[in-house]
Amino acid sequence: MPINTHFRSHRVGSLRTEHVGKSVKLAGWVHRRRDLGGLIFIDLRDRSGRVQLSFGPDFTPAEVFERARRLGNEWVIVVEGDVAARPAANINTDLATGEIEVHVRNLTILNESQPPAIPVAVSMADELPAEELRLRYRYLDLRRDDLQRALELRHNAQQIVREHLSQEGFLEIETPMLTRRTPEGARDYLVPSRVHPGEFYALPQSPQIYKQLLMVAGYDRYFQIARCLRDEDLRADRQPEFTQIDAEMSFVSEEDVFAIGEGMIAALWRGIAGVELQTPFPRLTYREAMDRYATDKPDLRFGLEVQDLTELLQRADFRVFQDAKESGARIRGIVVPAGGALSRKELDQLADVAKSGGAGGALWVRRTDDGLNGTFAKALDAGLLEAFYNATGLRVGDLFVGVVGQFRTTLKVGAQSVQTVDAALDYLRRHLADRLNLRDAAAHHWSWITEFPMFDWDADHGRLVAAHHPFTMPHLDDVPKVIEATQHGPPDSTAALQLYAAGLRSRAYDAVYNGNEMASGSIRIHDQQLQRHIFRALGMTEAEAESKFGFLLEAFRFGAPPHGGFAFGFDRLAMLLAGMTSLRDVIAFPKTTAARALFEGAPAPVDANELKDLHIKTLS
Ligand code: ASP
Repeated sequence: MPINTHFRSHRVGSLRTEHVGKSVKLAGWVHRRRDLGGLIFIDLRDRSGRVQLSFGPDFTPAEVFERARRLGNEWVIVVEGDVAARPAANINTDLATGEIEVHVRNLTILNESQPPAIPVAVSMADELPAEELRLRYRYLDLRRDDLQRALELRHNAQQIVREHLSQEGFLEIETPMLTRRTPEGARDYLVPSRVHPGEFYALPQSPQIYKQLLMVAGYDRYFQIARCLRDEDLRADRQPEFTQIDAEMSFVSEEDVFAIGEGMIAALWRGIAGVELQTPFPRLTYREAMDRYATDKPDLRFGLEVQDLTELLQRADFRVFQDAKESGARIRGIVVPAGGALSRKELDQLADVAKSGGAGGALWVRRTDDGLNGTFAKALDAGLLEAFYNATGLRVGDLFVGVVGQFRTTLKVGAQSVQTVDAALDYLRRHLADRLNLRDAAAHHWSWITEFPMFDWDADHGRLVAAHHPFTMPHLDDVPKVIEATQHGPPDSTAALQLYAAGLRSRAYDAVYNGNEMASGSIRIHDQQLQRHIFRALGMTEAEAESKFGFLLEAFRFGAPPHGGFAFGFDRLAMLLAGMTSLRDVIAFPKTTAARALFEGAPAPVDANELKDLHIKTLS
């Protein structure tokens, strides 16, 4: 690739022994300087890497040497010189250009630099300045080699996605940024209209509705590397604006969508990580995932599968187990091979882990040479003990940890609340896997989780909300139940709660990688009558549905094909492929966890006149 310009003949990182004897012109930043009196060494840096410049009496004119004395870190320079082999003793095997150096004949200073406000010549492995400072001086932070590699990787990943999907017959089509409310369930960022007083655009939470309209319009296969904006409560691993690989296709079932997603992910892993993934990825229904792993994003790098021991343990004379009979709670737990080696303190900590997941505590027993000991060991008589060993496969040295409560797939909604304790078991599994080193960093376990519930329960408002989004097709077997419950308009709160507890399935799915949710999608509703029933189930009156989504319902009257799609979180894909631990390390200009842009300073107040033009008054 020709990179020679007016200022340079090569990029510095490309120089090798084959260039020895060549005269070169190089431009870049002073990365580091060593002044040995009669000799000066400069590491010159550009995007491609670094090379050692050497200034010495044998090849550098005196006035050039004097100029080199003045150089400081991050000054921008151009040099001309000759590539020379380094003496064997000076070869630097850590540097790609470490076998050569450049003997400088001429030097031009293009720009000076103040001492950098944050150090540039450090890597992720070193101690970095506080993140606030890094983001404030992002243009300096971005000069660091590891961030440059991360953004290069991100670029390469985008190219692979574009090429792969184009080959699969997808068209990349841009959709508007100034739009109206989209249905992903977060708050919208709003943009006031100057020309239409009192009216607002919304920035898209995703291109969901547009991509469905493109299917109605006959485009058949669409994708976009799309920016999405959601005004949500922030968490460490969330950004208010983020990037999705968004795709939609017509005349498809789940398997067709999965094949496209798998092909794309396999291409990414092949192209970026050099790893050949096994396809097809395993598929688990939501129910299976919850029953076996207590989570909808199971980390399949380790087992520790959940067992339901309700019927067996309720035969024991143990208060907590007996109480469960009344409440319909279940008793579930995991066998942790060799977990008996955990210290007493670590065993006691398990209760806190379980509590953070919503359970009252954790129950544990361990099998030793002397039999069983632990919280409920004494409650098992000889017969029950035998049955417990048989059911769990618990061996000497193993630990069993359990929790008692309602689980999402066996929820009994009655007088009691809809509090579930799946998360407690999930946290325990992850905690113990980390403690026992069961997560292999080099393993790549992808899966599809299918048949997600249709609805979640919004306890604050006593109503159903879409578990994915309202355009998701219900599981065919469950369609009649939805229609029946919504025949005469939105269900009342009790009927809605029954629908929730019934766990109606949808045709929504997620892609999960090593315990991370990487993508969501669904087969969509393309029948406007069914879509109306879903809007009703979500508590919308006919008029509300018309006013919010009338244009979509109308489009469905004009020949909408069956369709479905997905969106992969691109930032997270890039982060994991780059081996980074923060999304901010693969985003050029990220926001802080408080949704602030520190470099340019946003959000920021605007002056009163501007607000007036926008017909806006602020309250604070
Ligand atoms: N729009 C959805 C989301 O952002 C993805 C999809 O259903 O395709 O989660």
